[in-house]
Amino acid sequence: MNLRLIFLGTSAAVPTLKRSLPATILQSPTEQWIFDCGENIQRQMIATKISFHKKTKIFLTHLHGDHILGLPGLLQTMALMDRKNPIQIYGPLGIKKFLVCCQQTLKSELTYQIEINEIIKPGIIVEEEQYLIETIKSNHTIESYSYAFEEKPQLGEFFPEKATALEIPEGELWAKLQKGETITTPKGKTINPHQVMGPNRQGIKIIYTGDTKPFDTFTTFANNADIIIHDCTFDDTLTTKAELNGHSTPSQAANQAKNSNAKTLILTHISARYPYTELLLEQAKKIFKNTIIAEDFYTLNIPTPTSTNNSTNTAPSINI
Ligand SMILES: [Zn+2]
Ligand SMILES: [Zn+2]
Repeated sequence: MNLRLIFLGTSAAVPTLKRSLPATILQSPTEQWIFDCGENIQRQMIATKISFHKKTKIFLTHLHGDHILGLPGLLQTMALMDRKNPIQIYGPLGIKKFLVCCQQTLKSELTYQIEINEIIKPGIIVEEEQYLIETIKSNHTIESYSYAFEEKPQLGEFFPEKATALEIPEGELWAKLQKGETITTPKGKTINPHQVMGPNRQGIKIIYTGDTKPFDTFTTFANNADIIIHDCTFDDTLTTKAELNGHSTPSQAANQAKNSNAKTLILTHISARYPYTELLLEQAKKIFKNTIIAEDFYTLNIPTPTSTNNSTNTAPSINI
């Protein structure tokens, strides 16, 4: 899948002139996944030309206002734009009550179906043909979840010259092989996809922590992630404050990335007290070099991993 990550809101708790409230979107050509829905998400979507009509799933990490208050407005705007595509929303217990209450108060009619899935048990909550979404309880001040987007192993590269050499006529039979199906040629030869295609490619794994302080099960959950998007509300000198408020510091986030054998760490949920983030970056990089501080509208085109048979450490580094 061609994937693109766009940070729509990178502030913590309160917005600043430069940072909107938490919202991150992952896109493929056919679908998009929104992680948290902070206030102002709609304008950020308009600014980045993100569709209000595309197939969309929304994942909420927890019910603090900075992460969900953009949702009612977004749903209403989608209706005003006459959206028809249904939408799936995932989040902690209570999200349904919140949305029903908003809808009853606003007396707004939607033009599309909403399916609300309250997370009762962490684990795999979405499984589609090409990817799955897994969740784990994180460690914040209220019930809160981290999410993993895991692309399934992708079929390898198709080599037309090999297909021609095996006397497979171009067209329907090539398409079947490219989908991983075994075919029979007009001359009665059975051809397996591996005869004309490279090895499977490892899928992309992206972790979105939401608000959390470090927790023990994280490194297994995030093992070998290509990208970890991690809470980084306070700098290292405010570790006690971070602990009390259920947040992380740069060093803590960097250790999580290092221990997970991740490739790239992106820090977000930055407190408004940091108009400049050099200090945060410096503290994280001492432990995990490939760290980035997210800014609003920061966009990352995620390259498809190269062919491999090995499941560890084989995807290329993300070029920033
Ligand atoms: Zn927050
Ligand atoms: Zn929170």
